[in-house]
Amino acid sequence: MTISYDITWDLDPAEPAFRGRTAVRFRGKPPHAQLAATRLRRAQLNGRDVPWDGARIALDADGVLEVDADFAYAEDRGFRKVVVDGATYQYTLQYPDLAQWSFCALDQRARSEITLTVHAPGRVLTSSTDTPIAPYALTAAAGPWVEIAEQVHVTRVRSGERARGEAVSRRIREAIGFFENLLDVPYPYGKCDAVFVPDIPHLAFSSPGLIMFDDAVFDALATLDPLYTTTVLSHEVAHAWSGNLVDAEPWLVEAVATYLSRLAAEELLPGADPWRTPDNAPWPDRPYAPHLARVRAMEDALGRPALLRALTTYFKRYAHTNAGWAEFKACLRE
Ligand SMILES: [Zn+2]
Repeated sequence: MTISYDITWDLDPAEPAFRGRTAVRFRGKPPHAQLAATRLRRAQLNGRDVPWDGARIALDADGVLEVDADFAYAEDRGFRKVVVDGATYQYTLQYPDLAQWSFCALDQRARSEITLTVHAPGRVLTSSTDTPIAPYALTAAAGPWVEIAEQVHVTRVRSGERARGEAVSRRIREAIGFFENLLDVPYPYGKCDAVFVPDIPHLAFSSPGLIMFDDAVFDALATLDPLYTTTVLSHEVAHAWSGNLVDAEPWLVEAVATYLSRLAAEELLPGADPWRTPDNAPWPDRPYAPHLARVRAMEDALGRPALLRALTTYFKRYAHTNAGWAEFKACLRE
């Protein structure tokens, strides 16, 4: 099935809801479209009205589906709206299978051409959409963001923290350079923006060309071990390859990103031991320890150079597509 989206978000801070307009062009018959709106203004398939049951729109033909709807702001999905020191910031809370809370989505994991327009006051940061991406990854952040260092954006209250911003910017650039060399696959997007936002459900979310971090990561830069923050930053940068360039089963995506972040920390923090996770210190990727152990077992069996060669083959062969464990296993055997 081929899908392309034309999405417009109207984010008027004075309104209690935000508006999402979607025109989806698709060939092949998907089972249904997902829509978790609070109010439907219009839903038409090929120009005729189609019913919405509160969660789904059944589709009996391919063509063009146009949906215009209002959505509720929320704290864990769709868009979040917060006021910090009198200024309003609005940003997506995306994650696999949450796209329907901000626009009408067909297969959310299917690579799709997306054209995005955002109407909102202030500066608008968005994912890179010049390659096909998974709809669930489409990310935007609107508000009076301050770019405190190259491609590093924060709320106005943090605009004085330039040294910390410079450190983030440098680390991200170093991680990109390290992974490009290690994997022999260029960074896939035209930019790598970072934005630090208040209160998101996860420490960070890495969408193509835009990484959203919780403000807690910015705090951690001043208070926690550099190994912690280097791990967080390089893990999210690694998702540009593992998850964004090639999407797979969640365990594999996290396993590879966690493994790559350890290699980056080894290189970028000479003397640190990123492989030994401290038991009694805060640790960003503790839940992924079993995933990392699987990759370490592959490394033990094959050796690091062979594992890295398999990763290079995997990212080159399946660039901008979805390819899971079966495909990766085949690369390991070559
Ligand atoms: Zn991750």
